Formats: sequence, structure tokens, C-alpha cells
Amino acid sequence: MNCPQCKQRLTSQSLTCANCGYDINSANWVLLTKVYPPNDLVIESLLISYGILHKMIRHDIPQMPVTVGPLAEVKVMVPEQVLSEAQALLEEMSQESE
Ligand SMILES: [Zn+2]
Repeated sequence: MNCPQCKQRLTSQSLTCANCGYDINSANWVLLTKVYPPNDLVIESLLISYGILHKMIRHDIPQMPVTVGPLAEVKVMVPEQVLSEAQALLEEMSQESE
């Protein structure tokens, strides 16, 4: 993953950028998109290949073990600094598949 602020490659598991001191935990995470499996894996691999920091928030509700329909929805969150970049990628991807 790359630092959303200075684009330097972050070392794995690092939560603070060694280059600019950006703290990943202090990032303002914004919703990029909502997807349904298996598209979550497609988007995740796309974000990884472009080094875009992201979080996949999968619904995991203990009292509802069966995830069907809206419950299986996956929220894709990115730091606000890379939102426009990530949106452009998704747009490209959706155009290619048409
Ligand atoms: Zn940085």
C-alpha cells in the first residue's frame, strides 16, 4: 500500500508513514463504494494492485449468521486523500467491462 499523502510505499503492517509521518489511523476514511460478493474481491485486488490504501468492511452480525441480500454488502472505505483517484479507477474498470 502507498501512503495516501506522499505516495511513498508503506512497509507492510506499518501504520505510520516512514517518509512523511502520516498516521494511517488518523486518516479520514470515506466510503468509496458498496459492493456485493464476489465483486468485492475484484475491487480489492484492483486497489491493491494500484497501492491504494483501503478497508473492506464486511457485515458480520453475530445474531444473523446468514449473510444474504443486503447483509452481504461490503463497504469499501478509502482515506479521503485518495478518494478521487480510487473513484477514477472504478470508473475505468466499469467502462472496460461494458
Ligand atoms: Zn507519507
